[in-house]
This record gives sequence, C-alpha cells and structure tokens, in this order.
Amino acid sequence: MKLVFATHNLGKLRELQAAFAPLDAHLIAQSTLGIESAPEDACTFIENALIKARHAALESGLPALADDSGLLVDALNGAPGVHSARFAGLQATDEENRAALLRALADTPAPRTARFCCVLVFIRHAHDPRPLISEGLWEGHILTEERGDQGFGYDPLFGLGDGRSAAQLSLGEKQALSHRGQAVRGMLQLLARRDD
Ligand code: IMP
Repeated sequence: MKLVFATHNLGKLRELQAAFAPLDAHLIAQSTLGIESAPEDACTFIENALIKARHAALESGLPALADDSGLLVDALNGAPGVHSARFAGLQATDEENRAALLRALADTPAPRTARFCCVLVFIRHAHDPRPLISEGLWEGHILTEERGDQGFGYDPLFGLGDGRSAAQLSLGEKQALSHRGQAVRGMLQLLARRDD
C-alpha cells in the first residue's frame, strides 16, 4: 500500500515511519510530493487530523494518514493543546515554545501534571465517509529545566515517572510509551481488521 503522510514535521515522520515499518506500506511525506500544509484551524485534534488527511489525499490522489497532537498542561487548563506547535507564535521554533512553556509555568509548583495526546486518522480517499481513527495519551509532568537531547518538541521538558524526560529515551523506548506509539498500535489493529 502506498500512503501519503500529511506532515512537514521531521520528528513525527521519523517516529511514524519506524512504527509503520511492520506494515507492508510505503509512507511518503507530503512534502516530497510538493504538497503544502493545510490550515489547521479547528479546535480539536480529531478535526485537525481529518483536515490534514483530506487535504493530503485530495492533492496526492493517494490514501492518507495524518496525526494531530499536542501537550495539555493541567495548570494551564489544557493549553497549549491544539496550539502546541505555535505556543510562542506562528513561526515559533521548538526551543521558543519550550521557553514560553517554562515562563507560563514559572509560578506553578510541582507536580505540574500534563499529558500528550495524539489522534491518528487514516482515509482511503479524500471523500472517505468512514475514516479510521485512533487516539493515544501519555501522562507526565513538566520539568523546571530541559533534560536530554533526543526526540523533538516539548520532549526535553516532559518528565516521566522514572526521573527521565521524554528526550532521554531512545526512539524504541519512546514508541513503547508515547501517545503516538499507542495511537499507531491502535491504528495497526484497525487497519488489520478493516473490511474493505
Ligand atoms: P501538530 O500536530 O503538527 O499541530 O504539532 C503538534 C505539536 O505538539 C508539535 O509541534 C510539538 O510541539 C508538540 N508535540 C506533539 N507530539 C510531541 C512529542 O511526541 N514530543 C514532543 N512534542 C510533541
């Protein structure tokens, strides 16, 4: 199966290509087909993932896979949420977003609980009325300073129960625990069970 993956985020692409390796699928990043990003202007992960998948399927003529994900911090009432990629501004870098998060939580004491959420969507074609949808959640807390240099996004600030940050995990360890790893495993089951 040839699939277009609707992202320009290299961190996500690396994780998803590794996770989908067992499937007999060729995952092509939409950027390699010259497809621009779709505007992600909805207020839920699921709607944004569907917008991205539909756009990629329409532009490529291929089945499409898209994920929308983000960090939800309890002390910030779920922010940055669907705005995680642009918490510090429209063109913000991961470093700027992490600095903005530390500033926003400067007066918040431990445990600063938070979770990552990932919604993964698969559509057979742009007008598919029966998308396959899978969600994963990863519980943790926000550290007071960065730790580790693996992963991407908020990983260096995402603390786990064992004292490590998400950026101190290997790709395999992160896949086993993460919101995206869980969503991928759910999606692999849905794809295996699909009836068409
Ligand atoms: P989007 O799904 O392209 O809107 O971007 C989601 C944003 O959430 C990313 O740019 C990261 O800032 C953050 N994010 C999502 N998943 C992860 C993860 O696994 N680690 C760290 N940050 C993440």
